[in-house]
Amino acid sequence: MKQSQMFIPTMKETPADAESASHRLLLRGGFIRQNAAGVYSYLPLGYKVIKKIETIIREEMDRAGSQELLMPAMQPAELWHETGRWDVYGPELMRLKDRHGRYFALGATGEELITSLVRDFLNSYKKLPMNLYQIQTKYRDEKRPRFGLLRGREFIMKDAYSFHDSPESLDKSYWDMFNAYCRIFERCGLKFRAVLADSGAIGGKDTHEFQALAEIGEDTIAYSDSSDFAANLEMAAVLDTDTAEKGNALSLERVPGKQVVDEDTPIVAQAFKTRTETVVVFIKATDEMNDVKLKNILATDLIEPFEGDSLDLMHLDEEIRVFADNGLKHLSQAVLYNKAEDITYVHVDPDRDLSIESYNDFRFIKEGDPSPDGKGTIKFARGIEIGQVFKLGTKYSEAMNATYLDADGKAKPLIMGCYGIGVSRTLSAICEQYHDEGGLIWPKSLAPFAIHLITVNPKNEDQYSLSEKLYQFFMEQGYDVLWDDRKERPGVKFADSELIGCPVQVIVGKKAADQIVELASRKNKERIETSVEALSTDVD
Ligand code: ATP
Ligand code: MG
Ligand code: MG
Ligand code: MG
Repeated sequence: MKQSQMFIPTMKETPADAESASHRLLLRGGFIRQNAAGVYSYLPLGYKVIKKIETIIREEMDRAGSQELLMPAMQPAELWHETGRWDVYGPELMRLKDRHGRYFALGATGEELITSLVRDFLNSYKKLPMNLYQIQTKYRDEKRPRFGLLRGREFIMKDAYSFHDSPESLDKSYWDMFNAYCRIFERCGLKFRAVLADSGAIGGKDTHEFQALAEIGEDTIAYSDSSDFAANLEMAAVLDTDTAEKGNALSLERVPGKQVVDEDTPIVAQAFKTRTETVVVFIKATDEMNDVKLKNILATDLIEPFEGDSLDLMHLDEEIRVFADNGLKHLSQAVLYNKAEDITYVHVDPDRDLSIESYNDFRFIKEGDPSPDGKGTIKFARGIEIGQVFKLGTKYSEAMNATYLDADGKAKPLIMGCYGIGVSRTLSAICEQYHDEGGLIWPKSLAPFAIHLITVNPKNEDQYSLSEKLYQFFMEQGYDVLWDDRKERPGVKFADSELIGCPVQVIVGKKAADQIVELASRKNKERIETSVEALSTDVD
C-alpha cells in the first residue's frame, strides 16, 4: 500500500489526556481515533492489527472445536428480565427503546441471548456438548472509561459459550478453552499469566483470568515465585483462608472512635488496624450503592490516623466504584485494604452476608508471604485482564428454563461455561508490552505491515524507480508492504515510521543508483547496508 494514499493521521504531539503508553502511541501512530468517551474508531492501520488478532482467535477457537456465529448487539430486554439481570446489571448496561416502546439492551455480554438461541435445539443429551463463539461489539457504560481501548464503553469481545450434560464434560471444555487461550496469547507475543479469579457478578464457581503483565494494569496478581500458583489478589485473599490454620487467620483490631456515618448517604465506614499494619476500611451501604457519593467518606479524617500508610484517594474511589458499577442491587459490603502503597479490594459475594465478625475469614496476603500451595513465596505484579474463562453451571439455564433430556428421559438444566477475550483490550495490552519512546514495535505475527519501505527523497529518479521495483517485488513475494512514497521531509518520514512500528524498514536513499539500500530493525534500530540482490533473503 502506498502511504501517500493511506489514511494514517499520525500526531507529533502527545495528546494531553492519554495516560498510558498504548493509548498515547495508538493515537499518535494513527491507529485509532476517539469519537466519544470510551468510544473509538479503528483506523486502517489499527483495524489491520485487530483483524490479525481476530484471525489468531478464530484459528484457535475453531481448532478447539468451537463454532463461530454472530448474534446481534441489540438484545431484547425480555431475555434480561428472565435472568433478572435487567435490574441486577445496573447502570453499566446500555438500554434503548424502539419506536414501539420496546426495550433493548446493547449486549454487555451474551449469556441470555445464546441460551435463548439453543434452548429449543439442545433438548437431548445426544446433542451435547456444544461450544459456540462470536466476535462482536460489546457495550458497557463504564463509569470511568480510560486508557483508550483498555477500558472502553464500546469494545470488541470474543465470547464463547459451552453446553454440557455433566460437570466432567464442562471441565473438559473449560480446560480446552484454557489451553486455546494460552495458545492465542502466546501467538500474540504477550507475556501473561493465567490466574485464579473471583467470579464476581457473573456467578458460577471455577474461573481463571488471563492477565497480561503491565504496570498500567488495574489488577494486582499474586503469584508464587516457584510454583504455578497465581491468583488475582482479591481471590488470593479468600483462597488463603482454605489453607490457613484455624485461629491463624488475621485478627482485626477495631480502631475505636473512627466510625463515620455519612449524613447524605446510608453508609457506615469503619477503620480497622491489622496485625500487619494493614488499613481496612469497611463500607456498608444499606441501599443501592450506585449513587453513593464516596467523596463524602473520603473527606473525613478516617484515614489520617494511620501514619505512613497514606491512602491514594483516587484509587480508593475507583475500587469502590467498581463495586457500584457491577450494579449489584443487594451489595451491601465491600472490604478495602491498603498494602503500604497498593490498595485493592476483596470482592464480597452479594449473597453472602458478610458481617464485621467474619472479617476473620480473610487473611490478607502480602508480598513475601509463603505461597498457599506451600511452594515458594508470594510476589505481586500488575496485570491487564485480557480474557476470562468461567464455569457457569446452571445459573442461566435454570433461570431461562433451558433443559435437555438425559439418557433416562429426565429433564435437566444445561450445564454451561463461558469464555471471553477482550479483542480491542488485547491490542492495547500488546502495545503496553511492545513499544519504546518513539512508538510501537509490533511483533511479526501482528504487524500491520511486515515491511516499511521508505523512499528518502521520492523526487530523486533513482530512488523512486528502485523503490517502485522493490515495492512490486515484495508484494510478489507475498509480503505486506507499506511504501512511504510521500513527498515529506526525511525527518517526518522516519518519525512516522517509528510511530507505526513495522518490524523491518527498507530505506532507499542516496545509494539507490548503486542498487544499495539500508535495512533497519525497528526493535533495536540497527541499520545495515545491503545490496538489492541480497535483500530477498535479508528481510526475513
Ligand atoms: P474488568 O474487570 O476489566 O472490568 P470484566 O471482568 O468486567 O473486565 P468480563 O465480563 O470478564 O470483563 O469480559 C470478558 C473480557 O472482555 C475481559 O476479560 C476483558 O478482556 C474484556 N473487557 C471487559 N470490559 C472491557 C472494557 N470496558 N473495554 C475493553 N475490554 C473489556
Ligand atoms: Mg467490568
Ligand atoms: Mg474483571
Ligand atoms: Mg472478567
